[in-house]
Amino acid sequence: MNAPARLDAQVNGDCAPVLRERGQREVFCGLTGIIWLHRRMQDAFFLVVGSRTCAHLLQSAAGVMIFAEPRFATAIMEERDLAGLADANQELDRIVAQLIARRPDIRTLFLVGSCPSEVIKLDLAKAAQRLGEAYAGSVRVLNYSGSGIETTFTQGEDACLAALVPVMPALPADAPTNLVVVGTLPDIVEDQFRRIFADLGITHVGSLPERVVADLPGIGPNTLYLLAQPFLGDTGQALDRRGARRIEALFPFGVEGTSDWFHAAAAAFGIPTSHVDAVLAPYRARGELALLRHRDRLAGRTIFFMPDSQLEVPLARFLSRELGMVLTEVGTPYLHAGHLARELAALPPGVQLSEGQDVDRQLDRVRALRPDLTVCGLGLANPLESEGLSTKWAIELVFSPIHGFDQAGDLAELFARPMRRRDVLRV
Ligand code: SF4
Repeated sequence: MNAPARLDAQVNGDCAPVLRERGQREVFCGLTGIIWLHRRMQDAFFLVVGSRTCAHLLQSAAGVMIFAEPRFATAIMEERDLAGLADANQELDRIVAQLIARRPDIRTLFLVGSCPSEVIKLDLAKAAQRLGEAYAGSVRVLNYSGSGIETTFTQGEDACLAALVPVMPALPADAPTNLVVVGTLPDIVEDQFRRIFADLGITHVGSLPERVVADLPGIGPNTLYLLAQPFLGDTGQALDRRGARRIEALFPFGVEGTSDWFHAAAAAFGIPTSHVDAVLAPYRARGELALLRHRDRLAGRTIFFMPDSQLEVPLARFLSRELGMVLTEVGTPYLHAGHLARELAALPPGVQLSEGQDVDRQLDRVRALRPDLTVCGLGLANPLESEGLSTKWAIELVFSPIHGFDQAGDLAELFARPMRRRDVLRV
């Protein structure tokens, strides 16, 4: 049987001082989250109140055929809206009425703010309240912002989930302890996790978001939550405000992270470690075997994370501890010291962390270090490739199933593939 991850004896949180930068940034905006959120929540519709640029971003990122009936759309603000000549609220009400008449399957409607709607100070919270009252009993109307001003693309999910927390049903103080897994996971990963929770003996398990928004889990003083994604600062705060308690754990990336995640959940429910070890052993063995295939190619290779998805710190921990990669710099848009405490403690000593971005200065550091692999946004990948540097698109990591034991090998493969290509080109 494999030994469980026992981090406490091995960690060293002795990182170099965090480099904090504020300058020009190269990231997508929070609207991008609609791509995976609308696939997950099957009774929800996302109506962006934005410009043609917003519509183009969604259309090209989602790759949806023009004939398809996707569960998102953009209410495009024209010049007269932006100039304040039209009553934007009346327009919005008209568009929502048309939409609801055409799509009776919609149960939850998200009004999603954008840069233009924020510039003209269109109050979408008020609009959501007004429309929610008008459609009470048939459609729930919520709002959040996906604006690109001072945000990064995974914050769209954070804002959306935070908007859902107030409508989670309240559980009484004598309700049995329940667990909420927070963060959008692909269905296949969620099914694996639910099976493991059941084998561990944790039965009251819900997800935020659920596949059907109408089935949101309850929340009360006996609710524990486990973050599946590291970019959910606002959602965590909203859950805390409703009395739920966070279970401190590594994020479920790689064998070690996933083991720690389940161990932490089981400990919170008073389940004996020996039982957890026995349940996880076959999963760990499978995951470790899958990682072995990639270790030769990745061990000793250098990697530089530019700040983008907010997955950087847990992924850096996984790559360095389980695959032997060397971290040259781990950049992240925001460093949530609370949610990442355990991850930061598990990084190798002296690692350079950076928060925020001044893209030119950071590119200078990449060029000076010439890492074997740079994880970055789409806009930076091609210029770096043309300079002979191998890159990995950060957004691909968000779109791929990478959580859990059975995906550990696939996650390693995402980093091994550009290395393999580079090795072949060098021959
Ligand atoms: S929300 Fe802002 S950054 Fe995002 S597509 Fe629209 S205009 Fe561009």
